[in-house]
Amino acid sequence: MTTSEIQALNTIVDGWSESRPGGLLCNPAPQGAIIDCTFITNEWFVVFNDGRETLQGYDTRDDAIEAYAAAMRLAQGGKMTDATLVNTTLAALRMASNELYHRASSHDGDGRYTCAGSGICPKCTVDDAIAKAEISIKEQNNAVHPE
Ligand SMILES: [Zn+2]
Repeated sequence: MTTSEIQALNTIVDGWSESRPGGLLCNPAPQGAIIDCTFITNEWFVVFNDGRETLQGYDTRDDAIEAYAAAMRLAQGGKMTDATLVNTTLAALRMASNELYHRASSHDGDGRYTCAGSGICPKCTVDDAIAKAEISIKEQNNAVHPE
């Protein structure tokens, strides 16, 4: 629900607006940011107005919003909840994994390579581990905080 997301962002720093429902989010305040998505990879990123390092590599806008909120809480000296800490860590691991390249196992003679897959390709191995960690953490969280 877009409106509640903007309200939540405005409780951190007032002045958020969005280009269209589900689209780019922007806040021109000094502590604001731009939360947007790349055309090529469809990954969401956060560009801070105060010049701190850009956060990138999020699958969804919600993930990018959470990363911005976590960064602001940290900057404001707030204590992070376990869930926020875990999400921030997972986001950092995803960014690190995006620096890796898939390792080819074979090619079809036309120059197209097939990835060697999890267990051999470092990127696939790391991505798998992150995905499994995320599922496990969500299951534990649901067990502690049933909906
Ligand atoms: Zn791979």
